Amino acid sequence: MHLKQLEIQGFKSFAEKVTLELTKGITAVVGPNGSGKSNVVDAIRWVLGEQSAKSLRGIKMDDIIFAGSTTKKAIGMAEVSLTFTNVEGTLPLDFNEINITRRLFRSGESEYLINKASCRLKDIYELFMDTGIGKEGFSIIGQGKIDEVLSLKPEDRRNLIEESAGIVKYRYRKTEAQKK
Ligand code: ATP
Ligand code: MG
Repeated sequence: MHLKQLEIQGFKSFAEKVTLELTKGITAVVGPNGSGKSNVVDAIRWVLGEQSAKSLRGIKMDDIIFAGSTTKKAIGMAEVSLTFTNVEGTLPLDFNEINITRRLFRSGESEYLINKASCRLKDIYELFMDTGIGKEGFSIIGQGKIDEVLSLKPEDRRNLIEESAGIVKYRYRKTEAQKK
């Protein structure tokens, strides 16, 4: 499985739609300070369900919507989509390609989609559980993250190891079952 395509529109510094095609292997994003490199990673964490505006370097969630620049007007909606190849069936859905989308309108309304069908944030969370891809997944190692991991509390370190080992879903299902 790999991330095949990333589409960003109206998210942070990306006013117009930008489509990035990614192949297997390493892709490096280079550019001057302030050109939007970190915004690309923020977009990925956001579509995976990040709910904390602060960890997206904002104050409130609508700070992620393009706020206008000297040449362009502000926009009313942010939309980010990721497309993963899934031929090996790593993600528990019977599709060779899986697309997830998140939208946020200035009105505060938000939408999540899996393969263009409306879903809940919970469905996105469950889809990526134990794959390491979720918003807290170890597939995104931000600046300072290594130091953070080394100084984690024992229970947080255990959570990280459990996610790597792919056993988070069992604990999750038990908690969900106990709610019923
Ligand atoms: P560095 O090399 O310094 O880490 P970078 O390439 O990672 O830079 P980013 O932090 O991704 O840069 O981008 C910052 C830019 O994004 C700033 O110019 C900021 O004004 C712009 N930006 C952030 N949020 C918005 C928004 N809602 N609307 C418009 N522009 C935004
Ligand atoms: Mg940066």
